[in-house]
Amino acid sequence: MNARILDGAAVAAAIRERVAGQVHELAARGVSPRLEVILVGDDPASRVYVAAKGKACLQVGIRSGTHNLPAGAGGDELAALIAALNADPDVDGILLQMPLPKPLDGRAFLDLIDPARDVDGFHPTNVGLLHQGRPAFVPCTPAGIVELLDRSGVALTGARAVVLGRSEIVGKPMAALLLARHATVTMCHSRTADLAAVCREADVLVAAAGKPALVTVAHVKPGAAVIDVGVNRVDDAALVARLYPGDAERQGQLAKRGYTLVGDVDFTAVAAVAGAITPVPGGVGPLTIAGLLQNTVTAARRRRGL
Ligand code: NAP
Repeated sequence: MNARILDGAAVAAAIRERVAGQVHELAARGVSPRLEVILVGDDPASRVYVAAKGKACLQVGIRSGTHNLPAGAGGDELAALIAALNADPDVDGILLQMPLPKPLDGRAFLDLIDPARDVDGFHPTNVGLLHQGRPAFVPCTPAGIVELLDRSGVALTGARAVVLGRSEIVGKPMAALLLARHATVTMCHSRTADLAAVCREADVLVAAAGKPALVTVAHVKPGAAVIDVGVNRVDDAALVARLYPGDAERQGQLAKRGYTLVGDVDFTAVAAVAGAITPVPGGVGPLTIAGLLQNTVTAARRRRGL
């Protein structure tokens, strides 16, 4: 392997430490930030994410609560809960865990959250501000990635950046942030012609497609910084053996849990040509919750004009 490993877990720890310091400063002013999370239904993955968010809040001194609505909850009930949280002056951040069970339309309910407490940065007001270059709340994963790139010394001004994926939560805000940092940005998606050739132009390549090992050496310019956002559960032993030859830990994980987490990048092969790369797990993943903590404290400050 030639590439430098970009340690997202270490950067996330540094962000959490900074946030804990900010919570401490706010406490001296009698302010105690509070995040409220809404979980509708009983999707196991969502439960795990919500529990992790609550635990992370606790660790940095942010108060947090969870509101569980049953899977069959009606839209009126959910809208009333959001309205009640919007009306509570003690609440700094409101997070609606996605995805919502059918037939609820996530978009419609995200739009109801007070933009001043939209710590996920998904409200159209915050999306618009980001694209105008005056960001308020920036989606947590791309915000964390920019901090990782900065702290790792990856230059963005004048760099060619390619973002693979155009989702509202990763690809689009990622592109907006890179543009704001003076990178020359190209966005790719499932209809992009000659994806490998476009990606190969990148000095900074961000892969957020949700397709295991989609990005191969053919997609990577030698020396590029490769950020792997993908988190894919892979249970195919032959694929795991091909992607991580001789990796006994991976094989053990697969045997024990029935799956292993694989990114959107063919890590072993790409690490031989890239200049820097994030691993999965331990790369981008930890940055997302760290970003949420930061946005919650930022909301608590801004709402009080601090
Ligand atoms: P998403 O909403 O499914 O969007 C995927 C994007 O990738 C779409 O724009 C899609 O194109 C594009 N795409 C899919 N297959 C492609 C292909 N073969 N070639 C080119 N483009 C392709 O996914 P997301 O929510 O952004 O998440 C992406 C990945 O990041 C997932 O693995 C997710 O689990 C992970 N994730 C991780 C974190 C974290 O904290 N680490 C946070 C969020 C997401 P179209 O638009 O044309 O369909």
